[in-house]
Amino acid sequence: MKIFSLPAVKYDECLMSWLARYCSAIGQSGVLQHISSLADPDFDLANVEILDILSSLGVGEKVARDCFSARTTWLLPWAERTAYCYPCLQEDVSSGESPYWRKSWCYLHSPICVKHRLFLSVADPLRINLHKSWGVFIQECNEKYNSIPNGKISRVRRISLDRDIMLALRVQDFLTRAHKADYIRLRGCVVSGADVLAVTRLLFESFLFPRLRPPCGDGIAREQQAGFQRIAGVTSIEQARKLGLSDSHVYSRVTALILIGCVFKLFPLTRFNDVRRPLLQLPAFVDSGEAYAIGRHGMRFSSSKEHKLTIKFLNGLPKELKGCLGEFINGLKDIHPDAILG
Ligand SMILES: [Zn+2]
Repeated sequence: MKIFSLPAVKYDECLMSWLARYCSAIGQSGVLQHISSLADPDFDLANVEILDILSSLGVGEKVARDCFSARTTWLLPWAERTAYCYPCLQEDVSSGESPYWRKSWCYLHSPICVKHRLFLSVADPLRINLHKSWGVFIQECNEKYNSIPNGKISRVRRISLDRDIMLALRVQDFLTRAHKADYIRLRGCVVSGADVLAVTRLLFESFLFPRLRPPCGDGIAREQQAGFQRIAGVTSIEQARKLGLSDSHVYSRVTALILIGCVFKLFPLTRFNDVRRPLLQLPAFVDSGEAYAIGRHGMRFSSSKEHKLTIKFLNGLPKELKGCLGEFINGLKDIHPDAILG
């Protein structure tokens, strides 16, 4: 197969999305079935089998990396890459192209479509297939057709400018910049992007801690999932954290983003107060949004030793960043005993 017969890779397109479009064009899905059984068919560009298949299509290793690499290691696992923006897919189809899956929908810290300023939708993983862009698009169309009188389908959803979205989007943008740049601005200071990400990772791990049986409890951003069953069979805190970061639930991730914004003080507390009632379902002891309260009551540690190591890590940050996080660190020093899970 010569490369000029391949479909052009779209901006921000996932590898499996592109392969699905290719296989549709030639009417074969054998390659797709095989690659989908690998651990990460979208981003494992060091995998020999994936590279061999791409090579057989005339796509070399460098081109594959340039086109399909992720911009972060903060990836939801393959099975959880179910979040998507319907208006983006609508635009693809409106322009006469096949809908395609964006890489940015696969990132833990990106539950909002930057272009349309909308929360991503989440498809049921059990109803998703290898041609998931078409699958979710058709499903959305069917649901709209059935719910709108006279079969009229609104082609473009209302562009939402809700305050909760704007607040979370500010934090999402801050983290996107931290992934891209060595240094970023934070409240008048220049701080290391890597340090910001290291702190943020700790926050995500605690805020998105999964819903386990007591005494482990939920991460504070999981209150949105209070109606869901608690997860069984988790044997270690480490496994639980990994599970927490693997959940594509959009509102939990949005809540976590807004709480991270509170810790870094990316917006005035009055802005937080505007959104906490309609959007955020937070435990009472952190619903002030104050960084001290979040430090004292919002984190989860496996042991006292881990708690001490975390404070040591935060105290060792460069003084500009440490200064920005001062109230949160003070709260962490006065931590509530329930936060120690072990
Ligand atoms: Zn979009």
